[in-house]
Amino acid sequence: MFIAIDDTDSKEGMCTTFLATELIREFTDHSLLDYPRLVRLNPNIPWKTRGNGAVVITLGKGKKQKDHIGNVERDIFIYSGEQSDKKKEDVFKRAKGIVERWSEFDSERTDPGLIVGDKRPPDSFYHEAVKSIVELDRVKQHLKKENYLFKGYQGERGLIGALAALSWRPQDFTYELLTYRRKDDWGRPRDIPKKDVMELDRKLQKAFDSYDHEEEEQSIAPNSPCPVLYGVRGGDPDELKEAIDMIGGERPQRWMTFLTNQGTDDHIQEMSISKTEPWISAKVKGIVRSEPYTIKGGHVFFKMEDKTGKITAAAYEPTKSFREIVKKLMPGDKVELWGGIRDEPKTLNIEKMRVIKLTEKIVKVSNPECSECGKKMSSMGTDAGYRCKRCRTKADEDQAVRKEAERELREGLYEVPVSARRHLSKPLIRDNICRSTSRRSS
Ligand code: ATP
Repeated sequence: MFIAIDDTDSKEGMCTTFLATELIREFTDHSLLDYPRLVRLNPNIPWKTRGNGAVVITLGKGKKQKDHIGNVERDIFIYSGEQSDKKKEDVFKRAKGIVERWSEFDSERTDPGLIVGDKRPPDSFYHEAVKSIVELDRVKQHLKKENYLFKGYQGERGLIGALAALSWRPQDFTYELLTYRRKDDWGRPRDIPKKDVMELDRKLQKAFDSYDHEEEEQSIAPNSPCPVLYGVRGGDPDELKEAIDMIGGERPQRWMTFLTNQGTDDHIQEMSISKTEPWISAKVKGIVRSEPYTIKGGHVFFKMEDKTGKITAAAYEPTKSFREIVKKLMPGDKVELWGGIRDEPKTLNIEKMRVIKLTEKIVKVSNPECSECGKKMSSMGTDAGYRCKRCRTKADEDQAVRKEAERELREGLYEVPVSARRHLSKPLIRDNICRSTSRRSS
């Protein structure tokens, strides 16, 4: 049996993953048959609270104990097993009680959704919800037709994320070990020693995005007043457990390992520039068509084009040193960009960039020599050509002496720093460290 929830939190507090731990605490008369899942959905939708994440837990009749995955007042294990014959209605009623107790109903923008069912919907719901926009009506129709037990609160929008998360069949996946604070500490500053995070970043071979070397800051703790103390992402759930002893400072009250689609690039769709639309995330290939330019606030832009159209690409201020790389691009360079599309004017917010082919950089070395007398000619102004002062001979601009200069940029892959990275973006380091993650089919 599956319980899926979404949109229970607000900017002022709570976290849907914490609510998942409360569900796990409640259902002690069932076994967990899988890691709880934290499924990130379309990062471009404007009504998300933070990371657009929904959560699913899988309950059943456990037979053989497998992995130790958390501690919520007791050690939590997952089991191999089968669907339980316990009543769906009972699970729904109890889950509803928990959602109602913990959701942030005071916020108008919190629209919780709860689904209980014993099958996964078609994975097209996941693919659509991670890549584009899904309509609530369609979700409700499906839930009714397939006899799910469900409840939407306020605007009911959480049902969309809950159904999408339930329909995820992981192809690529990672894990996040999340730790939680004592309730009295929610909203208080977190004490997470930076040196411990640096050490963790060095030692855990399959963890990623824990420390931002550029900003010299830890990136495992959120800034919001939510119940999360920190979360460590990685490819190996056993290795992640080492974090609990490695990170000193405030002690977590509970912890839980989630299976997640973070760091997979599942949100990205490869397409031509003319097909890009607001609110999706695209991978496009094209030629740089303008010098990069910086506007007030430090945001850097350039224009690019493929055979089908043009788009403006942006490296916003939070992408820090990545902007310096972007500034080294030149018209004529061939690039591939990954990023979310914004409307008005249509802009691609770069997450990752491959410089495929650098164009030659030709620089002027000197003015041309006069074809009559051999003397160096003088410039007649910007792009106005040259004239010999002695014999009045003229020469075009392109007669100047030029040579190829070395480019400051190299062909290859570049990504925004950890602090500016989206949960779903696949960090370049994952290609090296997480190849070993095995495949799952359900
Ligand atoms: P947190 O990450 O802290 O749990 P959040 O960023 O996930 O918060 P939510 O509060 O869950 O934000 O709000 C996102 C809302 O958008 C949810 O109601 C979810 O169902 C809905 N949603 C998610 N993806 C889509 C989509 N592709 N189309 C339409 N609605 C979506």
